[in-house]
Amino acid sequence: MSKNSDIKIYEYDAVIVGSGLAGLAAAKELTEAGKKTAVITKLHPLRSHSGAAQGGINAALGKDDSTELHEFDTVKGSDYLADQDCVELMCTKAPETIRWAERMGAVFSRNEEGNIAIRPFGGQSQPRACYAKDRTGLTLLQTIYEQAFRAGVEIFDEWYAADLLYEDGKVSGVAAYNIRNSEPAIFNAKVTMFATGGHARAYRFNSNAHANTGDSLSIVARHGLPLEDMEFVQFHPSGLGGSGVLISEAARGEGGRLFNSEGERFMSKYAPNAMELASRDVVSRAIMEEVRQGRGVGKDGQSVNIDLTHLDPEIILTRLPELRELAIAFQGQDMLKEPIHISATAHYSMGGIPVNINCQVRKNPRELVEGFYAAGECSCVSVHGANRLGANSVLEALLFGRHAGENMIKALDEGIELRKASASDANRMIEEMHKIKTSNGIETVPGLRTELQNGMTADAGVFRSKESLERQIALIDNLLERFNNIRIDDKSDTYNTDLQEALELGHMLEFSKFIVVGALNREESRGGHYREDFPKRDDERFLKHTYAYMDKDFNITQEWGDVVLGKFEPKERTY
Ligand SMILES: Cc1cc2nc3c(=O)[nH]c(=O)nc-3n(C[C@H](O)[C@H](O)[C@H](O)COP(=O)(O)OP(=O)(O)OC[C@H]3O[C@@H](n4cnc5c(N)ncnc54)[C@H](O)[C@@H]3O)c2cc1C
Repeated sequence: MSKNSDIKIYEYDAVIVGSGLAGLAAAKELTEAGKKTAVITKLHPLRSHSGAAQGGINAALGKDDSTELHEFDTVKGSDYLADQDCVELMCTKAPETIRWAERMGAVFSRNEEGNIAIRPFGGQSQPRACYAKDRTGLTLLQTIYEQAFRAGVEIFDEWYAADLLYEDGKVSGVAAYNIRNSEPAIFNAKVTMFATGGHARAYRFNSNAHANTGDSLSIVARHGLPLEDMEFVQFHPSGLGGSGVLISEAARGEGGRLFNSEGERFMSKYAPNAMELASRDVVSRAIMEEVRQGRGVGKDGQSVNIDLTHLDPEIILTRLPELRELAIAFQGQDMLKEPIHISATAHYSMGGIPVNINCQVRKNPRELVEGFYAAGECSCVSVHGANRLGANSVLEALLFGRHAGENMIKALDEGIELRKASASDANRMIEEMHKIKTSNGIETVPGLRTELQNGMTADAGVFRSKESLERQIALIDNLLERFNNIRIDDKSDTYNTDLQEALELGHMLEFSKFIVVGALNREESRGGHYREDFPKRDDERFLKHTYAYMDKDFNITQEWGDVVLGKFEPKERTY
């Protein structure tokens, strides 16, 4: 590994970590505005998890729809925890965002009249998910990548960002290393943005890509900056039984029906009006409740059936071809001929790095960090509150990614100064890498990771209680201790995936503690967070955002931040 004097220091106007929809949308805007911009990504941009989004992207385009109805559905879906000013911005700009994507070359599926087709999704009073078959995310990602590339953005792919340059309330870039050869470098910037995506890999049963390890969350938290609403994790109703691989909500949107082992269409008991298209938290709990009561299917009885055999096969073949292939590949079940086994899977993170409506990162509920922005799934702007509606997240990533880019351009035009970095700014990262490589203990990364993931699914999953959460905190503390005693086999500098996985595990252990402590302190049930010992929502005590901070011994303290309310008064949520 390099000595300090060899460390390369790159200088940019803007440095963006993450090349999913959020990062690339910002990068495109910045580069087109003539700002010198670098994107750092541990994957090739087209491997980002945005490319896995199947179902759609919301915009009120239907003739009976309106942006206000989209806002209402989003706020109700959020269990009233969303900030309504941000929801209004998102929903009113959604139709224009679709046209923007289309003008760039994204090919959406069309209806018979030749307009952009829309399909129904859970928790929404109108069909409004625009889609490109069941490959919506990939289509959008390819389009925005091409456009960012054409604009001339510099992409550092297979680079791992491991630390933030943060001092006196101001961020001035990141420390990163080249995964190919472990060379460290400093990316010094006037404005820095995190767009690092989700973190559901902390759960054993999840729908996320291997890369979704939430690195940036603990990178931020290690500097004493807060994370917001981390206790809110979305469990998607339809992960393939056994693997958790996603069967998009489009399967229910197109008419899929859920049955238990007794052949009962059980959603009639839990959401008599919306049935299978109630919001995700409601359907996930219903599935897990059926399983708990012994009415599950599959060899371990942990799944339920989704049946699409009553649909015209043409619908499956033209609108859900990828889903059919996934179920055949992973489970040997063909949805044209038989019901397939599904179960609730950890899918999406509502919480994250707190940002204001301009995507600028918050230092606490009252102050902002200078020169630091975040957008997409790693951030919490809070448009989803306690529960996200399907097809609102691709929208959020694209729309707020672009919005972050515009706000960074504004900040640069107003004359934000570069705070010069020095080689020693890479020290923390280099020490962390060195410690992992030279540690010669008895614990393995896969061993500790599996214990974390099993515990999160069992004790901080769909159903939670004081007892289960305290058990999980004790487990995480134990794993954090044992993490000091790991050993990796590969000590080389070339494509050292052992090293990378160890760094990622360190992050997962730390941000998971935020999820569990937040869930313990929130003595109510709201959206994706369900406490068996506090089954009701409690607006008096908890209509608040959680802001949590970590000290160097991994102790977590919390304060509450206000929710921005608006035209929609909190009401009981039924479907
Ligand atoms: C299977 C699946 C299906 C989905 N379907 C839909 C859908 O139909 N509709 C919808 O609205 N939402 C859907 N979602 C959610 C949605 O796709 C994501 O929330 C959204 O795409 C996230 O975009 P992003 O730009 O924030 O992050 P991502 O696309 O996840 O990109 C993250 C980027 O960060 C980089 N990165 C992370 N850590 C580091 C690091 N330490 N150093 C360097 N680079 C780093 C990665 O390389 C990657 O480029 C789905 C999610 C999944 C998992």
